[in-house]
Amino acid sequence: ASSPAMPTSGDHAGARPHVVLLPSAGMGHLVPFGRLAVALSQGDGCDVSVAAVLPTVSSAESRHLDALFAAAPAVRRLDFRLAPFDESEFPGADPFFLRFEAMRRSAPLLGPLLAGAGASALVTDIVLASVALPVARERGVPCYVLFTSSAAMLAFCAHFPSYTDASAAAGRPGVVGDVDVPGVYRIPKSSVPQALHDPKHLFTQQFVANGRGLVDADGILVNTFDAFEPEAVTALREGKVVSDFPPVFAVGPLLPVRFPAKDPAAGYMQWLDAQPARSVVYVSFGSRKAISPDQLRELAAGLEASGQRFLWVVKGAVVDRDDAGELGELLGDDGFLERVQGRALVTKGWVEQEEILRHGSVGLFISHCGWNSVTEAAAFGVPVLAWPRFGDQRVNAAVVARGELGAWEQRWSWDGEEGLVSGKEIGEKIKAVMVDDTVAKKGAKVGDAAAAATAKGGTSYRSLAEFVGRCRDAG
Ligand code: UDP
Ligand code: UDP
Repeated sequence: ASSPAMPTSGDHAGARPHVVLLPSAGMGHLVPFGRLAVALSQGDGCDVSVAAVLPTVSSAESRHLDALFAAAPAVRRLDFRLAPFDESEFPGADPFFLRFEAMRRSAPLLGPLLAGAGASALVTDIVLASVALPVARERGVPCYVLFTSSAAMLAFCAHFPSYTDASAAAGRPGVVGDVDVPGVYRIPKSSVPQALHDPKHLFTQQFVANGRGLVDADGILVNTFDAFEPEAVTALREGKVVSDFPPVFAVGPLLPVRFPAKDPAAGYMQWLDAQPARSVVYVSFGSRKAISPDQLRELAAGLEASGQRFLWVVKGAVVDRDDAGELGELLGDDGFLERVQGRALVTKGWVEQEEILRHGSVGLFISHCGWNSVTEAAAFGVPVLAWPRFGDQRVNAAVVARGELGAWEQRWSWDGEEGLVSGKEIGEKIKAVMVDDTVAKKGAKVGDAAAAATAKGGTSYRSLAEFVGRCRDAG
C-alpha cells in the first residue's frame, strides 16, 4: 500500500503551486502533515514546504521531522519562529496545549513567512485554524484546514459553537450534555472530550474559536474515507451540520511515509517475524498520555491472563523526554516480565507503529483510538479493540465500532473517571475478540475499502486530485 499517488492533471496547465503546510505540536498532528506533504509532492503535484517550530515538544517529533526531510528531499522546511510566550500564565497545563497556544499567539508572524516563501496556498492544522485563516486571507493566500481527527469529530467541532450558544441562550452557559450533531448522530455526554465540560479551559476556548472559524476556510482536508464515515462526510458536504460549509476533501487514509529501512531491523520486528500469522495482540495507547500505574498493572494482568502473544508499548510520561522510569518498576516488579518472556515483548521505547500494523503476525490492536492509529489499523485491515482514554478518542472509538473495524467496550474507564478495569475483565475480552473470526473478517474488509479509496479513481484519490487542482487554479 502507498499514499494516494498524485494524479497527473493535464487539464490544469497553471504554474506549479507552492503549498505551505502548518502542523501544530504532537505526533498526532505532525504525522498526518508529513504524509500529506509527501502525497502532494509526488509526481507533478505541488511544491511543498512544512513550517516547523524548533525545538519540538517531544523528541519523537524532532526525530520524525529529521527522518521526513531526509526521506522526502522535495519537501522543504521552513522555520516558524515563535514570539515570546509566558507559560506561567497557565500553571499545570498540558505541554502540547501550551505549544498550541504559543503558536496561536504567534500567528501574525505567519504573514511574513507566507510572503517570504511565495506561498500559493496554506494548509493549517485545525488547532491553529481560527488564527491562521485571517492572516492568510489578508495576504490573499487561499487557506485550507487539515483536520487531524475523524470526520465525526470534524462535524462535532463545526457544530459545537452553536451548541454552546444555544446552552447560553437557554440560561445554562457552559453546560454540555449529549450533543446531537445535525445529520450525523448523537455524541453522548460521556464521549465529549473531558476539557469541553469546562468553558474556561484553554482547550475549550481554542476549540470553539476553531469551530467558528472553519466556515471561512477554502476547504477542509480530512484523513478519512467516504466508505468508513459515510454519515459524517455526507452530512458535512450537504451542509446539514453547518450550512454553506466549505468543501470537504476526504483524502485518507493518508499512508505512511516509508523511511529507509533501519539496519539491522529493530528487535521487535525480528520478534514479530518469528510469530505465527495473526497471532499477536499489539497494545499501544499513543504518544500523548500516560496510564495510571494501577491501571497499567491491571492491563499487564489482563494480557497475561489472555494467554495470547502480545507486543506492548508502555508509556510512562506525557512527554517522552521525561520518561525515565524503569519498565519493571512501572509494572510493579512482581515478576510479570519474566513470566511472559517468550510469548510477549514489552518495550518503553518508540516503535515504528505502521511497520508493526502492516506485519502479518499482528491479529489485534488494543488502541486508545488516536485518529492516526485508527487510520493505520484501517489501512492495514487490523481489527481494533478500542479503549479510548481522552479527548477525541471516544468519538473515534464510535467510528471504529460503527465502521466495523473492531469492538469498543464502552464501560471501560476514561481519563478522570473513578475505577479500574480489572485484569480479569481485560483478559476475557481479549480472548473473546481474538477467537472471533468475524472480527478479523470485518477488519480485513475495512482494509479492502481503504485500499479502494486510495487507489487510482477511488474516492480519496479523486478528492486529493481535486484539492491539487484548486491550488493550481488559484496559483
Ligand atoms: N506512534 C508510533 N510509535 C509509537 C507511538 C506512536 O509510530 O511508539 C505513531 C502512531 O503510529 C501514530 C502517531 O504516532 O501515527 C500517534 O498518533 P495518534 O493519533 O494515533 O495518537 P496520539 O499519540 O496523538 O494520541
Ligand atoms: N481539535 C479540534 N479543534 C481544536 C483542537 C483540536 O477539533 O481546536 C481536534 C483535533 O482534530 C484533535 C482532537 O480534537 O485531533 C483532539 O485534540 P487533542 O488536542 O485533545 O489531542 P491531540 O491531537 O493533541 O492528541
